Amino acid sequence: MTRRDRSRAASAETRTNLLALDESALEQFVNDLDWPKFRARQILRWLYRERVRDIERMTDLSKTERARLAAIASIDRLSDCEVRRSSDGTRKFLLRLQDGLVIESVLIPDAARLTLCLSTQVGCTLDCGFCLTGQMGLKRNLTTHEIVEQALTALDRLEPGERLTNIVLMGMGEPLANFDAVAAAIARLTNTGWGLGIPARRITLSTAGLASRLKDVAGLGINLAISLNATTDAQRDRLMPAVNRLHPLAHLLAACRAYPLPPHRRLTFEYVLLAGENDSEQDARRLAKLLNGIRCKINLIPFNPFPGNPYRRPADSDVLRFQTVLRKAGFDVLIRKSKGRDVLGACGQLGELVSPHRS
Ligand code: SAH
Repeated sequence: MTRRDRSRAASAETRTNLLALDESALEQFVNDLDWPKFRARQILRWLYRERVRDIERMTDLSKTERARLAAIASIDRLSDCEVRRSSDGTRKFLLRLQDGLVIESVLIPDAARLTLCLSTQVGCTLDCGFCLTGQMGLKRNLTTHEIVEQALTALDRLEPGERLTNIVLMGMGEPLANFDAVAAAIARLTNTGWGLGIPARRITLSTAGLASRLKDVAGLGINLAISLNATTDAQRDRLMPAVNRLHPLAHLLAACRAYPLPPHRRLTFEYVLLAGENDSEQDARRLAKLLNGIRCKINLIPFNPFPGNPYRRPADSDVLRFQTVLRKAGFDVLIRKSKGRDVLGACGQLGELVSPHRS
């Protein structure tokens, strides 16, 4: 160990968490040790591809190198994870962060697909009235490695024969309100050299409609989903006040029309169906008009209830009627299956239930 290493190894707290470094920061770190640059990629591969939790397992580093690295660096993976399994096979992971806050991610099997839904914030900046996460307020943004940690945790716990096929950034939080960390996480998830190697076209980011940031998503090569949820500003102000005040419908749809969609890709519009609120035939017709000419598909999400919320899920027949109007107008419309509802793992059900009696 050199003197410089010894001073850095003074206490565990001063050790560098390797997971907190991106590729260029790790190259710098390796350079400071006077190691060749390719060591950075070897280490990254152990962290993400092999998901090791112990530097000792990095067997293409010599024993001396491993000891030197372990004296100044650590792999701070999270290990406190509770899994709740739904009767439909969906698994919700409750992951405790180092500061004690808990985030949720959901693994959703569906036919040939296995989709992981990731959180990007603890709580959410926004206040959408039909979403449990919105009731928590924003506790804080997640760091890049906390976003990626959710994927590493889920991969560690896959069952024999399972393979992760898709990732959606649709869990707790508004991903575009934490863009830099999200973009860096996507770089690690998609990297084919040392990262998780998940193709960008199999990753979808969902936003409540931060219109001015939509164009930033295009550069990431992933898919974009917009939670529209309403067809007039009055309705959207009621349902999603914070975001609609900033970016009213006309502004949001103009940004969608201007979005640089690559060939063969489509935008996705999500629309939560709330009985008696936004599920009428008139709403469906207005929605068709708003989206006219945008290359897109529509995902209808019948409201998933949670305790203490005033909204109701529409009857299946009303959902089908809504779908039919849109289909007749020429749109591709899917009704999203609400998986994991029995473990509060479905859309809008992630977060702390706040007891109304608690002050
Ligand atoms: N903030 C992002 C991502 C999180 S919400 C966004 O708004 O898109 C993911 C999806 O779940 C959104 O389309 C949202 O409208 C929907 N959603 C929220 N609460 C819901 C609920 N209780 N039932 C059904 N869908 C809900």
